[in-house]
Parts: sequence; C-alpha cells; structure tokens
Amino acid sequence: MYDYLIVGAGYAGSVLAERLGRDAGKKVLIVDRRPHIAGNAYDHPDAAGVLVHRYGPHIFHTNSKEIFDYLSQFTEWRKFEHRVRAFVEGKLLPIPINLDTVNTLYGLDLDSEGLERFFAGVAEKVGDIRTSEDVVVSTVGRDLYEKFFRGYTRKQWGLDPSELSSQVTARIPVRTNRDDRYFSDAYQYMPLHGFTRMFENMLDHENITIRVSTDYRDIKESVRYREMIYTGPIDEFFDYRYGKLPYRSLEFRHETHDKPVFQSAPVINYPNDFDHTRVTEFKYLTGQEHEKTSIVYEYPRAEGDPYYPIPRPQNAEINAKYQALVNETPGLHFVGRLASYKYYNMDQVVGQALTLYRKISGINALAKPEGAGALGRE
Ligand code: FAD
Ligand code: UDP
Repeated sequence: MYDYLIVGAGYAGSVLAERLGRDAGKKVLIVDRRPHIAGNAYDHPDAAGVLVHRYGPHIFHTNSKEIFDYLSQFTEWRKFEHRVRAFVEGKLLPIPINLDTVNTLYGLDLDSEGLERFFAGVAEKVGDIRTSEDVVVSTVGRDLYEKFFRGYTRKQWGLDPSELSSQVTARIPVRTNRDDRYFSDAYQYMPLHGFTRMFENMLDHENITIRVSTDYRDIKESVRYREMIYTGPIDEFFDYRYGKLPYRSLEFRHETHDKPVFQSAPVINYPNDFDHTRVTEFKYLTGQEHEKTSIVYEYPRAEGDPYYPIPRPQNAEINAKYQALVNETPGLHFVGRLASYKYYNMDQVVGQALTLYRKISGINALAKPEGAGALGRE
C-alpha cells in the first residue's frame, strides 16, 4: 500500500517524491513511461562518451534562493552563463538584442543612450499589449522583429507571433548595454555531474520506489495507493473530454563530430534559414573536455511527444475546464508543465511542486490534533 502514486519522474514528480518520501515519511511509488527518470531534463553520455541532453538544451537559471538551495542538496554546481547567437543576414549576432546586435547589423556606432533613442524612433505604438508580435514591435520596432522573431516563432510554434500570447516572446529581454547573456537571473548554474545524477540523488530514499518504462494506466488497478500526483498532459488524463489541447513537439537530430569544437557559441538560432530552429553544442553547457563534440538540431513538429503548451487564449479556456475537473476530485493533484498547461521553466516547476507539498502537508496538519506535526510526522 502506497500513500502516493506519482505519475512522471521529471521535476514535478521527483520533487514531490523527495519531499513526501524523505521529509514526510510517506511511502511513494513514482512511475514514468519513459525508460529513465529526470523527464525532459534527462542527460546521458552518448556513444562517444559526450554528455548530451536527449530532449534539447537545458540550462538551469532562477532568481529564487529557496529553489536554488533546495536543489543544492542533491548536486554541486558549475557556474554557467548561457550565450546564444542568431544567424541573421549571414552574421552571428547576439540574442537577446543588445547594443552589439544593433551596431553590427546596421553598421552603426551607437552608445547605450543612442540605442535608447534608436529604439524610441522605431518602436511602434501598441495600446494594449496582448500578443507576441505586440511585445516585440512595441520595443524594438518592425525590422528587428522581422529579422529575429517573426521567422523563428512561426517555425517553432507553427503560428504567427500575432496569434500567440505576449508571454512567449516576452521571455527574451531587450538590452541597451553589451550584456550578451541569455538569462538575467541571479543564479545561473549547471549541475556539476549532470541533471540525471541530481535526480538520482533526489530519489535515493527507502520510502521511494521507482518504476520506469511504466505507464500509470497499466498499473493503477494493480497497486493500492491513497492519493495520486499526476504530471503528464492534462487532456490525456481526462480522455480528451473537452477536446485535445495542442502541445508543440520537437524532433531532435543528434550528431557527434570528430573534432573538439563544432560552432562558435553554445547555441546558434536560425530565425530565417533552414527547417531547424537552433543548434546546441553540449560541451559548452557541461564543461566536458573531449576530443569529439556532440550537437543537436531541433525541428519543430505538430505531432509527437508533447513538449510545449501553446500559450493563446483559446487554449487557456480549454485548460481552465480541465483544471476545474482536477479541483473537484479529492486526492488528485496536478503539477508541472504538461499538467498545468503552462510554459514553465525548470525552476518554476520546482517552485510549483514545493508549493503543492506545503499545501498537502498543511491540509493534513490542520486535520490532526493540536500539536501534531506536518504530514507524516505522526
Ligand atoms: P516533464 O519533464 O515533461 O516530466 C513529465 C513526465 O511524465 C515525463 O517524463 C513523461 O514521460 C511522464 N508521463 C507522462 N504521462 C505519463 C503516464 N501516463 N504514465 C507514466 N509517466 C507519464 N527549462 C529551463 O529552466 N531551462 C532550459 O534551458 C529549458 N530548456 C528546454 C528545452 C526544451 C527543448 C524543452 C522541451 C524544455 C525546456 N525547459 C527548460 C523546460 C523544462 O523541460 C521543463 O520546465 C521541465 O522539464 C518540466 O518538468 P515536469 O516534471 O513538469 O515535466
Ligand atoms: N524567439 C525568437 N527568436 C529567437 C529566440 C526566441 O523569436 O532568436 C522567440 C520564439 O517565439 C521562442 C520564444 O521567443 O519560442 C522563447 O524563446 P526561448 O529561447 O525561451 O525558447 P525555449 O528555450 O523555451 O524553446
């Protein structure tokens, strides 16, 4: 008899398994239909021995000390500030757009104040910023929008930026200085021995049983459990009762090259050329030294494994209906990127899982006699 059946061993499921198993002393069964733990953050050495991310580049970044400290129990870190170049008009230019991007693209010699005036001159007035087009044209104007954002977004999402909520392109800042880091967060690190090792440490506890290559639907009748935590796609769980929620997929083409370095930046984005969106060279991310190098191309797809919820109002409406079903089912908890249908980064999913843990333990603590501790400490 398990206290919890947890579906999915990515961040959402693994953080809850760790908290419930280790902190609350609950018996937990965590299952994943993939043959491994760590969800989309899974990394492993490839045939050449280069550490690669099977599901595309994952770089940890957060502004939350609590989330960073929580994960630090399970890994040491390597400082890594991510940098990306975009291939535009034959040049490799910094993205997020910064002073060097504009000066190099247009052959200018602006300083930061000059660039602010430049942006003020080209930015379009948008009354109500709703879409991913609005965000960009109202900040850097139409030409930079078309060169850096329009093509990439159409390729990645199969939609024009004007059809996507503002939060998608709003992930990318605009800078008037020369800072060319992809993220601005206070904590930017990679797990020293990889993400999978961090997950192994998280789940290494006698109260936690792990079963991979296991779909929960194949075992839910044969195992006994009190409550379920589900981190897979929400529409699938409810047999598409309110229709299919679109999730964007990717096809990954991994390659190993017989030379130490393949490209001049960790990630190169291709907004306007080729069918792939970006190429990642993993050794930059992991710091590994190896005579060969491994890279991955990402090809966006409508069908395939679900990777990205698609932020637009009509999808949010369907999701709200599904979320209402969860709320009215006692003993059922939904958490994570696919189950929430939210475009969350890794740290946001950790934060969401820790919040759910507090809620679960708080509710149980309230139900206990005065003086009883948190969940499981009876
Ligand atoms: P997942 O990792 O998807 O885990 C859910 C698990 O549930 C899966 O392993 C799935 O197999 C399992 N599952 C589903 N249904 C069932 C079932 N019926 N039975 C059993 N198991 C089931 N975030 C960052 O912070 N930085 C980055 O650089 C970054 N890069 C990314 C790049 C790409 C290409 C992608 C796709 C995402 C990236 N992310 C990044 C986001 C990050 O992957 C997610 O925030 C995080 O992995 C979500 O964790 P999760 O536990 O919610 O979901
Ligand atoms: N984007 C773009 N051009 C770029 C980089 C990003 O148009 O060079 C847009 C695109 O819509 C993308 C979104 O910004 O999907 C978010 O980018 P991010 O790199 O955060 O995407 P992720 O790593 O989540 O795939």
